[in-house]
Amino acid sequence: KTFRDLGVLESLCEACDSLGYTKPTPIQAQSIPLALQGRDLIGLAETGSGKTAAFVLPILQALMNKPQPLHSLILAPTRELAQQISQVVEALGALISVRCALLIGGIDMISQSIALGKKPHVVVATPGRLLDHLENTKGFSLRQLKYLVLDEADRLLDLDFGPILDKLLKVLPKRTTYLFSATMSSKVESLQRASLSNPVRVEA
Ligand code: AMP
Repeated sequence: KTFRDLGVLESLCEACDSLGYTKPTPIQAQSIPLALQGRDLIGLAETGSGKTAAFVLPILQALMNKPQPLHSLILAPTRELAQQISQVVEALGALISVRCALLIGGIDMISQSIALGKKPHVVVATPGRLLDHLENTKGFSLRQLKYLVLDEADRLLDLDFGPILDKLLKVLPKRTTYLFSATMSSKVESLQRASLSNPVRVEA
C-alpha cells in the first residue's frame, strides 16, 4: 500500500516522497485510515516506528480541509522530542504552508509569544511551558482546538506531568485526540479514559 491508497491527499504524499517515505510503516498503515475517518486513536508504538508521521499526516490533512489558527496541539515529554516533532510538522507541511510554533523550556517566553501572535496552525509543546503561556501570554487560548496529541504518554506521566495534563484537559474544548505510548500502564489507561472518546487501538 502507498500513502495515496490510505487516503492521504496529493500534496502530503508529495511531501512524504520528498522525505524518502516511499511506503507507509505498519503503524502509519493502521492509524492513518482510522484517523481520516475521524476516530480517536490509541497508538502503541516505539520511537523508530514512524509514529510521528502517523499522527502528523492526519492532522495536516484535516487542516487542509478546514484551515484555521491554533488547530492542533501536540504535547511531548521532552524538549528534544518536541523539537523533532515540530521539524516533522514543518517538513510534511512544507507544501501547504503550515505555520508551527514550538513552546519548550530553556528558550525565552517572549520569542515564543511572538510566534503565537502569528497565529500558528499547529503548536508543539512540553506541558509546563504550554501552561505557562496559557496563563501569561495575552490573547493565547486553545478554545478553537480541533486536535490534541499526547505523544509518549507513558513518559509524560513518568515525568510527573499528570497534574499539568489534568489542568490542561479541563480547559480544552471537545476535539479529536490521539494518544501514543510505548507501554500501557494503569496511569496511561486513566489518562486515556480522561482524554479520549471511544478510541480505536492500533499497534505497531
Ligand atoms: P519516528 O518513529 O516517528 O520517530 O520515526 C522514525 C524515523 O523513521 C524518522 O527518521 C522518520 O523520518 C522515518 N520515517 C517515518 N515514516 C517513514 C516511512 N514511511 N518510510 C521511511 N522512513 C520513515
